[in-house]
Amino acid sequence: MTAATVLDYDEVIERFDPVLGLEVHVELNTHTKMFCGCPTTFGAEPNTQVCPTCLGLPGSLPVVNRVAVESAMRIGLALNCEIAPWCRFARKNYFYPDMPKNFQTSQYDEPIAFNGSLDVTLEDGTVVTVAIERAHMEEDTGKSLHVGGATGRIHGADHSLLDYNRAGVPLIEIVTKPIEGMGERAPEVARAYVSTLRDLLRALDVSDVRMDQGSLRCDANVSLMSKGATEFGTRTETKNVNSLRSVERAVRYEMTRQAAILVEGGSILQETRHFQEATGTTSAGRRKETSEDYRYFPEPDLVPIAPPAEWVEQLRATLPEMPSERRKRIQADWQLTDLELRDLVNAGAVDLVAATVDAGASPAEARAWWVSYLSQEANSRGLELAALPITPPQVARVSALVAEGKLTNKLAREVIDGVLAGEGEPDEVVEKRGLAVVSDDSALYAAIDEALAAQPDVADKIRGGKVAAAGAIVGAVMKTTKGQADAKRVRELILERCT
Ligand code: ADP
Ligand code: MG
Ligand code: ZN
Repeated sequence: MTAATVLDYDEVIERFDPVLGLEVHVELNTHTKMFCGCPTTFGAEPNTQVCPTCLGLPGSLPVVNRVAVESAMRIGLALNCEIAPWCRFARKNYFYPDMPKNFQTSQYDEPIAFNGSLDVTLEDGTVVTVAIERAHMEEDTGKSLHVGGATGRIHGADHSLLDYNRAGVPLIEIVTKPIEGMGERAPEVARAYVSTLRDLLRALDVSDVRMDQGSLRCDANVSLMSKGATEFGTRTETKNVNSLRSVERAVRYEMTRQAAILVEGGSILQETRHFQEATGTTSAGRRKETSEDYRYFPEPDLVPIAPPAEWVEQLRATLPEMPSERRKRIQADWQLTDLELRDLVNAGAVDLVAATVDAGASPAEARAWWVSYLSQEANSRGLELAALPITPPQVARVSALVAEGKLTNKLAREVIDGVLAGEGEPDEVVEKRGLAVVSDDSALYAAIDEALAAQPDVADKIRGGKVAAAGAIVGAVMKTTKGQADAKRVRELILERCT
């Protein structure tokens, strides 16, 4: 197998149709675990949030977390799913050191929510409706830490440590139906789907949706079929892709890798794969098991979930404004053109701008900061906008200082730079860096008088009515005040001085 070679992307598209299937795991933000009362705090000391139930000790019994079931149903409803009037948990049996029970309590053929859809808007405004197969409840595994190797992977490690704090944290797995017909846009669709789903889950307030911390993880299934074929090709499943950008890159890479094998008459192995951030490639994981391997059977220790219709309707009534509706409202409220709205959305700045407006900035100012200056900053640091070390209230404060005439736009950028550099709140940065606009007229008069005295011929011209000559004096004053004066005010004062 020529695993290292890839086919040129244009050629892939000419010869094949890609099919995608996206499985997203989302860790719920419940205070306690799925089947016990252990806390779910992220980053706690290893093995401090465990009990007999989540450690799978003999004789312990699980109890379902009601809030987790409600979150699952709210997610299902927000994805336009049907909610099962009756469903059960199932045991998925397999051995892995990070799973102390030797089975994962999951759902199999009786998911709590199924048959839904999610509208996804692409960068150019095209809307793609992605069909949702199901959303089911399950529990997370613990975490293995492989010690002693260079990469942190199991290969080359001396030993492994296990942290069971995460074992039993509630997870919802959301699975799409096969996404077909996207052609060259398949990688973009994959990314946009995960991004839209993330926005939706955030609006529902059911999860932190932090891909970097693993509270939202995506497995990307990809297969190719030759143009004109009627049956799907064999798929690979690239596991735990942990950023939006990686989702797009992983799908694209898999398309080019599989195509290279297929054009040489080879066949695709059904397997899991891992995405390598550094190289943008995927590498083989394990051969994919079939569902028979897991010996699923209904969980005997838990009662079925049979939500009465009234409960479902109560939950439906708690659904927040959906991100797509919210965008429409924001476009109207802030009077944005389609293009401005798209830029805002594509920059991932909707929430940040809204929070900045809530903190007192005008929509135009808030947009200007986040969509241009801060987006560039985020790009150059390789961060998502929300991960920049600056908050909406801080941006709002800077824009208030500009509105009050205490900062020019140029100075405001320096204040933002200072906040980003960890120098403190905007007012502290102004203070420490000495950035305030010289707004004290008497200080300006002193600088003006000095400049007029230094350039007497220019002074005479202005006095003689040649207003345009004031530019040279403005320039001199800006120089002595190190650019911290409001040029318009300086000009006014010069003209006043010379009449
Ligand atoms: P598994 O248990 O193997 O993870 P799932 O049913 O949970 O299987 O998820 C498989 C995903 O892959 C679903 O999103 C499904 O729509 C999609 N899928 C199924 N067949 C194909 C295929 N041939 N090519 C691409 N995606 C596929
Ligand atoms: Mg799956
Ligand atoms: Zn526990």
